[in-house]
Amino acid sequence: MKQDIHPAYHRVNVICGSCGTEFETGSTLEEDIKVEVCSNCHPFYTGRQRFAAADGRVERFNKKFGFKSQNNEE
Ligand SMILES: [Zn+2]
Repeated sequence: MKQDIHPAYHRVNVICGSCGTEFETGSTLEEDIKVEVCSNCHPFYTGRQRFAAADGRVERFNKKFGFKSQNNEE
């Protein structure tokens, strides 16, 4: 890397507000980072549907506009 053109790189902790997982990463910020979902609890990784539950806003929206629910597992 070129000298003096890159911002300082710090080790910070990322803290997940949903499941409490903490892990270390690199950031140009000095403070810890708080996130709402992480790879430990995000439905994409867990395979479980936690958000946009069947009777939530998404479902109502889909019904209202005649879209089929995305929740049926195939
Ligand atoms: Zn998490």
